[in-house]
Amino acid sequence: ASVNEYFDISFKVMLLGDSAVGKTCVLVRFKDGAFLGGNFIATVGIDFRIWDTAGQERFRSVTHAYYRDAQALLLLYDITRKSSFDNIRAWLTEIHEYAQKDVVIMLLGNKSDMAAERVIKHEEGQKLAKEYGVPFMETSAKTGLNVELAFHAIARELTQRA
Ligand code: GDP
Ligand code: MG
Repeated sequence: ASVNEYFDISFKVMLLGDSAVGKTCVLVRFKDGAFLGGNFIATVGIDFRIWDTAGQERFRSVTHAYYRDAQALLLLYDITRKSSFDNIRAWLTEIHEYAQKDVVIMLLGNKSDMAAERVIKHEEGQKLAKEYGVPFMETSAKTGLNVELAFHAIARELTQRA
């Protein structure tokens, strides 16, 4: 029997954050990695059902019913765009209002490859995450930095609870 038969768990994960922060690219990058195989999530047989928004986030009008079923939320901002960072508080307010109380949240500062355009320091992301008691890392959908690690952390948290 393969390992997959022992760990057949399915989790619903949502990607949130302002338009153009890189949600879809992060998802594509993660899926490509998973497809190539050999990563932790494929190995333990976790089936992530990942929901990506299709532009509703532009008006922060993600249907509230979507939040209810999510077990984990990846909340992204763009390290080169201050407004996307400032809006994280509004996203968290929304999350706290509509998501499950025990939802796993992770804050991601994306586009970390764009060093020259950076306007949000790593420490600022860390500070905000600490204030809300959520884990934080910077990612790059372009280079792949920390993308798998972020999903790995989510998977670890979820499987410990399951
Ligand atoms: P979404 O609206 O949040 O889903 O954002 P998209 O995934 O569509 O990405 C918006 C734009 O940012 C696109 O032009 C991407 O190519 C670019 N982008 C996304 N992630 C990264 C990243 O990590 N680094 C760089 N340099 N560009 C990125
Ligand atoms: Mg998108």
